[in-house]
Amino acid sequence: ERAFELRNVSVHYGDTPAVKDVTMDIFRNNITALIGPSGCGKSTLLRCMNRMNDLIPSATVEGTLRYHGEDIYGPKVDPVQVRKIIGMVFQKPNPFPKSIYDNVAFGPRTLGMKGNEREIVKDALVRAGLWDEVKDRLDDNAYGMSGGQQQRLCIARCIAVEPDVILMDEPCSALDPISTARIEDLMLELKERYSIVIVTHNMQQAARVSDMTGFLMVQLTEDEKSRWGELVEY
Ligand code: ADP
Ligand code: ADP
Repeated sequence: ERAFELRNVSVHYGDTPAVKDVTMDIFRNNITALIGPSGCGKSTLLRCMNRMNDLIPSATVEGTLRYHGEDIYGPKVDPVQVRKIIGMVFQKPNPFPKSIYDNVAFGPRTLGMKGNEREIVKDALVRAGLWDEVKDRLDDNAYGMSGGQQQRLCIARCIAVEPDVILMDEPCSALDPISTARIEDLMLELKERYSIVIVTHNMQQAARVSDMTGFLMVQLTEDEKSRWGELVEY
């Protein structure tokens, strides 16, 4: 089942092209990797998929981005609602300077979600594979956690608002190999329930976790393309 349909998506920052004519389908309960050299527009494309790019005033988006058939840039669509359904995790773990508990409770509180808050927080931490590590220190500041734990906390914070999709922008590039392996394992568990799109520089990571990989290489010279071709073969 298709989750996203991107049709001829181009993005400019002012006059500067950032994404050039991308057409691709992204399927539900898949992990889709977006790979390509620095500056080819991976982060930009990801940020368009939950309208986070709206927050950059110079950005203009052309083409069509449909999510389950609905144009997410359509006139009746509320960007805040889009960001709830389509969550995002960033390269650098970015917990709030608050307790572990409050980090996870933040989204549900802000959105006024119904339900038992402690249950929601626990459930999100369990699904992010963090509960056993933090259950006795939920009131500790999140900044005391390791980088890998902080990233799983950010995943829990995202999960707590019950999204359908988790967009991950190089979620492991600030992490050590063991934390990276844990996040990769976690992604493979999470795809049972969520659709995941991951931007990565790491071909091996894309091969390990993804069901489908999209290569964004439109801005490469012919010479660079042939070198990338060799890498892809490898
Ligand atoms: P990638 O994630 O593949 O490294 P990005 O989406 O970050 O690529 O960037 C694509 C292009 O858009 C680059 O040339 C980058 O410098 C430019 N860019 C990214 N963000 C902005 C911004 N906020 N304002 C202006 N240009 C930007
Ligand atoms: P990534 O490593 O995820 O590709 P970058 O290092 O390219 O991210 O960009 C980090 C931040 O800086 C992003 O939020 C992006 O929007 C912004 N940025 C990148 N390039 C530019 C640019 N040329 N002008 C203004 N902001 C930019």
